[in-house]
Amino acid sequence: MRPEHEQRFRRIVSDYLQRPAGDYGELLHRGHVSSPEGVDPEQWRAQVCAQARRDKIRVVTFRDGDRAIAARNRTASDDELRCELDRMQALRQLAAAARALGHEPGSWLRSDDESISFCSRCDARIYLRVASPPVSDGEGISEPCPAPSCAPM
Ligand SMILES: [Zn+2]
Repeated sequence: MRPEHEQRFRRIVSDYLQRPAGDYGELLHRGHVSSPEGVDPEQWRAQVCAQARRDKIRVVTFRDGDRAIAARNRTASDDELRCELDRMQALRQLAAAARALGHEPGSWLRSDDESISFCSRCDARIYLRVASPPVSDGEGISEPCPAPSCAPM
């Protein structure tokens, strides 16, 4: 992994550990957020909506495959939503690439236009920065998992 990505990776982890804003915090901060991988999108959607109702904030939610997206009604532009869809697409592709190498990527941590994940078996890292074209890095997408499962893929 390139040193500048490694630095960002550590920073995102420590930010997350210090101030876990959570998905709802992300929604308030950015105006839109997508459900994390491995989370039931309907359950996630219901939670975000319930929290928004309590705060009297208007949100719209919709599904994209196995994910859900929530957006504050008045802030998310078409461009932002398209960006969000691109990001989810890139994350899906990276997770698939990692799995093809035998890794088991966990859920993504996000910091603005960057996202990171670890292999839950060997701690191999995956880094993504959404740009055009997207920047990705890490052992998780370049080296095979040293601890592959016995189960067939
Ligand atoms: Zn691994």
